Amino acid sequence: MVFRILLPLIALVLIGIVVMLERNGIQLEGFTPGVVQDYTYTEPVEDDIRCLLLVDHAQSAGKEVTEQMTNVLRSMKVNYDVFEAGEFSFAQSLDSYDHLIISFPDWEVLGDSVRDIIYWVRDGGSLMNTITPEPGATLHMISQQMGVEGGFNDFTGISGICVQDQRMVGSTTKPLYELSKDPSEKMDISLQAQLSEACEVYLSSEDGSVPLLWHVPYGEGHIVVTNMALTEKYMRGFLSLAYSLMEEACLYPVINSSVYYLDDFPSPVPEGDGEFIRRDYGIDIASFYSNVWWATILNWEEKYGIRHTGVIIEDYNDLVKGPFPKNESTSQFKAFGNMLLNNRGELGFHGYNHMPLILEGKDEGKRIGAYVMWPSKEEMERSLEELSRFSHAVFPNAEFAVYVPPSNIFSETGREAIKEAVPEIRAIASFYVTHTNAHGQGTEYEQEFGVAEDGIIEMPRIVYGTYINHYDSLMAMSELNFHFVQSHFFHPDDTLDVDRYADQGWAKMSEAFEQYLDWITTDATAIREQTASEMANAVQLYDHISLKRSSDGSSVSADLGGFAGEAWFLLRMRDREPGNTVGCTLEQVANGLYLVCATQEHIEIGYQ
Ligand SMILES: [Zn+2]
Repeated sequence: MVFRILLPLIALVLIGIVVMLERNGIQLEGFTPGVVQDYTYTEPVEDDIRCLLLVDHAQSAGKEVTEQMTNVLRSMKVNYDVFEAGEFSFAQSLDSYDHLIISFPDWEVLGDSVRDIIYWVRDGGSLMNTITPEPGATLHMISQQMGVEGGFNDFTGISGICVQDQRMVGSTTKPLYELSKDPSEKMDISLQAQLSEACEVYLSSEDGSVPLLWHVPYGEGHIVVTNMALTEKYMRGFLSLAYSLMEEACLYPVINSSVYYLDDFPSPVPEGDGEFIRRDYGIDIASFYSNVWWATILNWEEKYGIRHTGVIIEDYNDLVKGPFPKNESTSQFKAFGNMLLNNRGELGFHGYNHMPLILEGKDEGKRIGAYVMWPSKEEMERSLEELSRFSHAVFPNAEFAVYVPPSNIFSETGREAIKEAVPEIRAIASFYVTHTNAHGQGTEYEQEFGVAEDGIIEMPRIVYGTYINHYDSLMAMSELNFHFVQSHFFHPDDTLDVDRYADQGWAKMSEAFEQYLDWITTDATAIREQTASEMANAVQLYDHISLKRSSDGSSVSADLGGFAGEAWFLLRMRDREPGNTVGCTLEQVANGLYLVCATQEHIEIGYQ
């Protein structure tokens, strides 16, 4: 009885101690931010080659989407052969494959071979295409088998992609993804088509009138039709969906990580006033950052369970030649940085100053605005050494494993300087998609998720800012389904920059961003909220994993290679329900889509 009364009291005292420790900036045990693991991996394994990717180099329209498709196949760890359509002998060789991907729009090059493809599907093959086929005699020979009952002659305009029946992650609260800024703008990228009852439509146009991606059985086999001519990186989520529908149960590796970066944080707080801050709050920038902005960040951490990774700028000078003066005003760095660390966040490097690591005489094409270029790699190194000295002095218990290039601009020389001067940096986090400048060149460093040959872990950020536009929504949704990953950044000084919607005021900016946070946390509940170094670990595990899959009609199984004790997968099931599992656990993330956590080298998932 006494114990029952004491228990809540003890709990209260314990909470009090934890709060006190946090306030004093003492690290809590059981959590070590900034540590990138060196895993030991098992031997890699390899799937048999069962997939044929058919290309036609004469058709430039298929080139870009083929690049996206090959990236999808590599990421899904699918072994495949590539052949030129005009050079492949269908009658003799098609039988050695289970999956055929047609990756060009004009099917006339197939000629009479399309009959061989029809027979092959009827006997159990699975066919998909990557881009809207052009109407023509050859296409019409197979359109009935593709489930088309009428139309398939004329292109029609669509303005958005609508996910049917919550079949993709993200589509429960947001089924519609617009293709351009102006929702009334239509793109002629799809064929009008009336489909048979047997078709299962996964994607349609904004109003449902045009089917954009569907599955239809034919004989013993299956056909998945893509009716969109889109080549952006965001097509990867849809192409991986199409590929997965060729199988009854399709298992592919993912990262399972969600990271939120605060760029330029901590950094010297600007003195004086910001126009819109003064307008809305009547205070200067420094008071706004600590009383309003930071309060919002903390509120998001609590409300959404997210954790922040801040990347440090020591000084906003424009020196590119030493000596690099030390920033002696560390109190704000300490205050903000320790609060972030104590909320299970993490710190990384952004720069001694904000001059991107690009070399004079070499990287002029990457320069934007008033940035000064570096005269040598040695000067870059000296500035990084000062940043490292400063960061370790201010945060003696922290580890710094992640580097974010200023303005996402980076160079080969910068990379070498990082490796030389701050070998503690294990991962680089730049951009997933470059934004082209006025000359049509991408200035930013564009990355793919993975481990580079020099051992650096590449982990791009996918979206940024407080207002997530139509394009970034598509990209974010695609990556949730392709890599099961989310990565976002913004800056405290977004509130000072009209180009980043500062004139809207922080209240509206934060409200806009909450829509994104609401969407991610409601629709991707299973995703892990992580810091950058934890994502770096997840990317390593993902990069190394390999699979040897098999399926017998009632279960899918895989032997894992490159395994280090944990691996994540998405499992797409076509009209099936998962049952017993061996060596893994399973959680539903969308209609027909499951997140799989493997804890053993052999996994099995039964299904009905
Ligand atoms: Zn920055």
